Amino acid sequence: LSERLSGVFDRLTKQGALSEDDVRTALREVRVALLEADVSLPVARSFIKNVEKKATGAAVTKSITPGQQVVKIVHDELIATLRGEGDPGALKIDNPPAPILMVGLQGSGKTTTTAKLAKRLKEREGKKVLMASLDTNRPAAMEQLAILGMQIGVDTLPIVPGEDPVQIAKRAKTQASLAGYDVYMLDTAGRLHIDAELIAQAAAVRDVANPRETLLVVDGLTGQDAVNVATEFDDKIGVTGVVLTRMDGDGRGGAALSMREITGKPIRFVGLGEKMDAIETFEPERIAGRILGMGDIVALVEKAQETLEAEQAERMMKRFQKGQFNMNDLKGQLDQMQKMGGMQGMMGMMPGMAKMSKQIEEAGFDDKTIVRQIALIQSMTKRERANPALLQASRKKRIAKGAGQEVSDLNKLLKMHRQMADAMKKMGKMGKKGLMRGGLG
Ligand code: GDP
Ligand code: MG
Repeated sequence: LSERLSGVFDRLTKQGALSEDDVRTALREVRVALLEADVSLPVARSFIKNVEKKATGAAVTKSITPGQQVVKIVHDELIATLRGEGDPGALKIDNPPAPILMVGLQGSGKTTTTAKLAKRLKEREGKKVLMASLDTNRPAAMEQLAILGMQIGVDTLPIVPGEDPVQIAKRAKTQASLAGYDVYMLDTAGRLHIDAELIAQAAAVRDVANPRETLLVVDGLTGQDAVNVATEFDDKIGVTGVVLTRMDGDGRGGAALSMREITGKPIRFVGLGEKMDAIETFEPERIAGRILGMGDIVALVEKAQETLEAEQAERMMKRFQKGQFNMNDLKGQLDQMQKMGGMQGMMGMMPGMAKMSKQIEEAGFDDKTIVRQIALIQSMTKRERANPALLQASRKKRIAKGAGQEVSDLNKLLKMHRQMADAMKKMGKMGKKGLMRGGLG
């Protein structure tokens, strides 16, 4: 695949913005990569369509080919799609005893994951955990959990023959309250296929326990099937997160993307082996790299972007040192302020600005002002921007009018520009370090 890709990239070497053609050619390869990673076809399709819209017209970093740039955009988009809200590893376990319900098909790794998570809660958060097996179909399954419990030093609810899952859940709840457990985990029975009885049983247990977390355990090696299972479980039981097991296998993890796109549920953990420590919180970056299988290209583009940014900062610093701070630079600063969350985000980030902040506030400078000031600069000609000294009365009138503002607004902007130019000059003398910290990198 890599070879095929570099072939495509060799053919695409022109610079500038990504054309529709560039994007389409590169995305054809990306599509193959996604399908090879076991992303389901409809998900791969809609994902690519989405990226196609975003990528067309995007800028190409110097020394990078359009194809490589597309891969980077795809990679970033994958991460954004895979990432759920909040911290995937933070289980909701306030209000002890907090119930955690584990559901999923037989063999997906529920029992193993229950014990792995119990161990984590015990060791990392110092929680007192009780585990209970509700798998009445297979007596061996209950013993399996008891043995794992002994291995990791976590209590399991004693086995009482003849009880049904709901009775066990009730007993676990009572026991957890009485004995002061922080968390009790209910490891349910699975089946090879999802069916009405399995769902009904899980729903009955859910109604008794009222779980804070319902984690669906899914074999990460099963592609589309996993997604169907997840949709069904979420519709009928309601899940708060997904655990993908067997991610230590050689599958490329495409199920993760399908799962996110179709169910919208956050992936919380990944299982990476049979051992009790073989579990990690879900990291979208890692899975994205694996799904795409183009880590080299992504790293290359990131490096090029970093180099370019460093070069730009260097160039700017040199100019500032010479006292050259023109309207384009000011616009760059204003754009950056907007990007960094307006005035609030900006204050204190630039050495020059921090001192000026009071002055700026007094002058009534807020986020709306930033937008208006950018409009004023945009209303200037190229020459005027490069050399604000050109701005005499008639030019000022034209510029203000063009931006739908008053000459007095423009004068304020010019005053601010002069103050900043002064600050920059001083800063330039302080040297590169100060400037980089100043957020110009
Ligand atoms: P359950 O039927 O859903 O409770 O599944 P089990 O927890 O009993 O797991 C079934 C098998 O899968 C066991 O042999 C586990 O050791 C194995 N297993 C579970 N999770 C993982 C994992 O993340 N990686 C690997 N390689 N094996 C796993
Ligand atoms: Mg089990």
